Parts: sequence; structure tokens; C-alpha cells
Amino acid sequence: MDRIAVKIGSNVLTRKDGSIDFTRISSLVDQVSDLRRKGIDVILISSGAVAFGRDSLDIATPLDTVSARQLFSAVGQTKLMHTYYQLFKERGLECGQVLTTKESLSTRHQYLNQKHCMEVMLSSGVIPIVNENDTISLTELMFTDNDELSGMVATMMDVRLLIILSDVDGIFTGDPSVPGSELIREIAPGSDSAEKYILNTKSSRGRGGMRTKYAIARKLALEGIPVAIACGKRDCILEAVASGSDALPYTLFRAAEKPISGVKMWIAHSGGFAKGSVTVNAGAAEALLGGGATSLLPVGITAVEGDFEKDDIVRILNPEGRSIAIGKANCDADTARRQMGRRNAKEFVHYDYLYIEQI
Ligand code: GLU
Repeated sequence: MDRIAVKIGSNVLTRKDGSIDFTRISSLVDQVSDLRRKGIDVILISSGAVAFGRDSLDIATPLDTVSARQLFSAVGQTKLMHTYYQLFKERGLECGQVLTTKESLSTRHQYLNQKHCMEVMLSSGVIPIVNENDTISLTELMFTDNDELSGMVATMMDVRLLIILSDVDGIFTGDPSVPGSELIREIAPGSDSAEKYILNTKSSRGRGGMRTKYAIARKLALEGIPVAIACGKRDCILEAVASGSDALPYTLFRAAEKPISGVKMWIAHSGGFAKGSVTVNAGAAEALLGGGATSLLPVGITAVEGDFEKDDIVRILNPEGRSIAIGKANCDADTARRQMGRRNAKEFVHYDYLYIEQI
């Protein structure tokens, strides 16, 4: 069955004053239901827990950021799911909640468990609605935002397309509110021509912003999954993007033709939880970036940083200290230190578990 992922940002689900926009949520549920009728499975990645909680609680004493996020998300996530549940039920569809954390996706085993859960939901006709478990994922352990999470889910579930819904139509050649700014309709794989237009503005309700959307979209497109950034406030937007129609505005990141394996995709998205790094010499860096199926051997390693175990994710740095690749370590940090510089030692990262970054 055809399969897409749709990320819904907090700004889509709320009005300017922060109140919940139930009409909009209802329209989005209608659109997802229509896609389902057309034979397209949809995985939703929905923000809104914090916004729903903030909207329904009246807190007299001010809370610090972490406490507020925990409290609002604990209350808001149930309300968010209740709303989706009721609306899908009215349309004869079932949905279910998938809560996750960045840490739980950092081991291959738990990653595959999460994937299995969503596979069984889809094959049973249940729409997965994914969000980060904001009650326990805090500070450095949390996803940058749900855009990052949606990229992870899209690759995990091998979708045909990821649609990131926000409150703007996509990437413009200037500030969207300024006349003369034009929407960029398509971005070729690997192209960075749009980068200069990305504003550093943050979402007013959620944690995201256009910079992470752009980075995630560009990365996924290079991995073979097209990504659209579109305005969730527009009626019929999902149908238009899913069918490739240009009747409505949105920015499409076209996908590269050479998709990479599932394991490599997982590694590509795991850089954020690298437990250490190794520095390689110029020859090894050149070999890795050369485009061939090259594994990283201990002979090319000049330094080992951090305290990682076998199978942990590590970054690979060139002699200038710049990250050039991410890989799954074949041995722990102490063994790597002992073996670095040695010939004939077992490879430190096998090619199948090595993701070369675009630099
Ligand atoms: N998980 C957060 C929520 O549900 C949203 C994170 C984000 O803004 O990207 O409120």
C-alpha cells in the first residue's frame, strides 16, 4: 500500500491567540480520511501536547521551562489524542498513540520495536499518531523538535513522501510577509541554493522553525525520500501534495535517485546520539569520501574520543576536526585506542554501518 508521513506543527493546530483550532484539526482529519479511502496509508507526527495543556490549565504560580513542558504535555497529550480519537471515530477510522524519545530510538533493537509497532498498526488499519514523550525527554536528550522526529519516522517507515505542515506555504525568496517574495516550488536533491533565504525565525507555539525543516527536508531528499513543506491551514493541502498537483502552493524537495539502506538511514539520523568520535588521517578521510564501498580501518585512526561501547554510534572526524561520517563502532573505545594506527586489525566501522555525510 502507498504510504506517506504527515507532520503537523503546533502552529497549525492553534489560533494566533494560542487557543485550539478544532475546525482546523477536523479538516485535517477529513483530509487524512480521504487519503485512506484512496488507498494511501498515513502516519501522523503531531505536535500540540504542550499547546493543548497550556490552553486548558490556568497556572497561578509561574513554572520553570522544564516543569511547564512536563505539566502541559502530560495534560495536553491526552487531550490531543482524545480529539484525534473522536474525530477519526466519527469517520469510521481508528487511531493509536505512539510516544517516543530520542534515546529509545538510539539502539537498533528499540528502533526496530517501534517500527514493528507502527507496521502492525498500519496493517490492522489503525492510524499511528506519533509524538515525543515530552514528560520524560528533557534538555539534551530530546529531539531538536518534531521536524527532526518526523524525519526519523519517515525513514524508519520507508514512506513515499513526508509532508511537513506549518503555518507558511513553504520556503520563500524573502520574508513571506514582504511583497515581492516568491515561493520556491521545487528544490533539486543536494542543492543549497535556497539556504540563503532561510530565516532564523522560530515557531511561536512549538520548538521548530524553518531552519530545522530545511535541514531535515534536504537530508531526507538526499536519502531518497521527497519532502514537502506546506501550509496546514489550507484546505485540501494533503490531497494536492500527495497527488503531486501544483494547484496549491508548497515547496517540494525532490529526492535523489540512489536510496540508501534502512540501516544506513538509521545511522544517518543517529548523529545526535553519538557516544564518541574518532579522528582519521587525510588518507582515510579521502578514501571514505571517495564514493566507494570503503570500511574504516584502525590503521587510518589517529585519535579516539569518548567512552563508547561496541555497537554505539560514533562520529568520524577528518584531520581538521570536521565531522565527515557517522558509523556503528565494531569495538569499544578502549579497544579502539589500543588498535588505532595498527595494520591488519579488524575494521572499526564496516561499510554497511557507515553513513558518509554530505560536506
Ligand atoms: N512535542 C511537542 C508538543 O507536542 C512539540 C515539539 C515541537 O514543537 O516540535 O507540544
